[in-house]
Amino acid sequence: MPSPPSGASAWRTARLLSREPQISTGRTLRFTVPDWPGHLAGQHVDVRLTADDGYQAVRSYSLAAPAEGDTVELGVQAAPDGEVSPYLADVLPIGAEVEIQGPLGGWFIWTPRDAGPLLLFAGGCGIVPLMAMLRARRAAGSAEPCTLLYSARSPDEVWYARELADPGPAEEIRLIYTRQAPPGDPRTTGRVGAQDLAGLPEPGSARCYVCGPTGFVEHVADLLQTAGHPRELIRTERFG
Ligand SMILES: Cc1cc2nc3c(=O)[nH]c(=O)nc-3n(C[C@H](O)[C@H](O)[C@H](O)COP(=O)(O)OP(=O)(O)OC[C@H]3O[C@@H](n4cnc5c(N)ncnc54)[C@H](O)[C@@H]3O)c2cc1C
Repeated sequence: MPSPPSGASAWRTARLLSREPQISTGRTLRFTVPDWPGHLAGQHVDVRLTADDGYQAVRSYSLAAPAEGDTVELGVQAAPDGEVSPYLADVLPIGAEVEIQGPLGGWFIWTPRDAGPLLLFAGGCGIVPLMAMLRARRAAGSAEPCTLLYSARSPDEVWYARELADPGPAEEIRLIYTRQAPPGDPRTTGRVGAQDLAGLPEPGSARCYVCGPTGFVEHVADLLQTAGHPRELIRTERFG
């Protein structure tokens, strides 16, 4: 009898349990992964698809929620003309299987044992691993202050809108709209700027996590360093 997969390097069979729309191009996908070893907020998995002719494609997707038994939650945004993401987001049938390797990544992680204020910066679907951190923080009842700055094009591009509208204790959510803001939003639309960092915890005290497209990540990391946040407290994840 074959022995079950063990460790993060094993490829495990993952069965699609459910698909839930987040935004017009983004979906929450939940998979059952027998023998899932658990994971930390911020980690990701590699998803491998195999076609009938044996062709394989592998892409990385962040884990969107803390470990919960054999269930793994991902957030997939369909990239225009992408090879894998539109298939996962809209085509893979419920009950179908893919392979998953992980959990992967040991740097872009946060655990409730990490003391000090938390600053999370998300651009677009870069919210996915930061949502796992926010959810892990809420589940642990952390009293440390946490601010999420989430840059989205418009209100209908905001993932997890219902959860974000109900902040946990010591939690602040700042939505930054780049193209179209809701009526009454006092901020002029545009990309994150130095003014958006006003009122954040003192540089040196806060752990900063930045995730999203490469341009967003580099821009925010520069802003943080210019504001005095030490490089060693800024962790970044680029989605490409
Ligand atoms: C650590 C990590 C975590 C990630 N987490 C997430 C996540 O949680 N959610 C998420 O949605 N994504 C995530 N990503 C991104 C993800 O891995 C994929 O890169 C993304 O889904 C696109 O894959 P794809 O196969 O659909 O697109 P690809 O086929 O790889 O193409 C990407 C884009 O490039 C364009 N393109 C491809 N070939 C060409 C070409 N020859 N000329 C011009 N344009 C071209 C495509 O049109 C498409 O828009 C993560 C990436 C990393 C590295």
